[in-house]
Amino acid sequence: MKLNGKIAVVTGAASGMGKAIAELFAAEGAKVVVSDLNLEQAGKVVEGIESRGGVAIAITANVAVEEDVQRLIDSTVSRFGTVDILVNNAGIMDNFVPAGDMTDALWDKVFAVNTTGPMRTIRKTLPIFMEKKAGVIVNIASAGGLFGSRAGAAYTASKHAVVGLTKNVGFQYATLGIRCNAIAPGAVETNIGSTLTAVNPFGMERAQVGMGINPGLGKPEDIAKVALFLASDESSFINGTTITADAGWTAY
Ligand code: NAD
Repeated sequence: MKLNGKIAVVTGAASGMGKAIAELFAAEGAKVVVSDLNLEQAGKVVEGIESRGGVAIAITANVAVEEDVQRLIDSTVSRFGTVDILVNNAGIMDNFVPAGDMTDALWDKVFAVNTTGPMRTIRKTLPIFMEKKAGVIVNIASAGGLFGSRAGAAYTASKHAVVGLTKNVGFQYATLGIRCNAIAPGAVETNIGSTLTAVNPFGMERAQVGMGINPGLGKPEDIAKVALFLASDESSFINGTTITADAGWTAY
């Protein structure tokens, strides 16, 4: 087992990629904190893990709220003693709103979850990692974090910021035994479409231009396998970078 005895915190783990990551990490021997806004669904993920002999707990937390992040990591430490792996997966879409139609409220909301959330969890977890000179961070960015029109302006900018945060943390804490990498998934079949409430027709049309060259949709499990690689010692020399997992979509 690749994560035997490791303590892993996964945000947004009640659904989609976060759920698949929590399940795979537990199957690989990690004790997993399944964290999400949605405690009921998180509890179901925990039940599934336990039914297969794994160890997991559910903790409700909104990554955009500092007190929630404090409680998430503090509760993890009181229950399991430490944190070894932090997966920043929680994220929301932006209704494909282009810059000309952007509202401050939408911009702030998307950044609060997609960018400030990972900063908050990283800030809270780094002292634990620094004390033991070990720790791994995996951020779920997006093809939209590397390219210009996979989503609206806020999502695109927020995920580019995650890629930058990944590089910064990866380099600056490298000599302290800490690694920080990101995954840039292409289009993956999850429930993220449920966060699309009032799609902007212009922005959507501009974002869809490249869909015709997308070789295929991914499954959450495809991304979980990359997260496992980045969380395990198999990637010990990989730090501060972003791995694209998109069937080749962005290679065109
Ligand atoms: P999903 O909607 O299936 O799952 C996201 C989970 O995050 C949900 O359970 C939701 O309740 C939770 N969540 C949302 N806001 C939260 C908050 N503020 N605090 C805590 N939890 C919160 O979506 P998914 O596609 O699995 O998304 C996971 C990550 O992958 C996101 O960061 C997303 O931007 C990224 N991503 C998705 C795709 C895709 O095609 N699905 C592509 C690239 C990147």
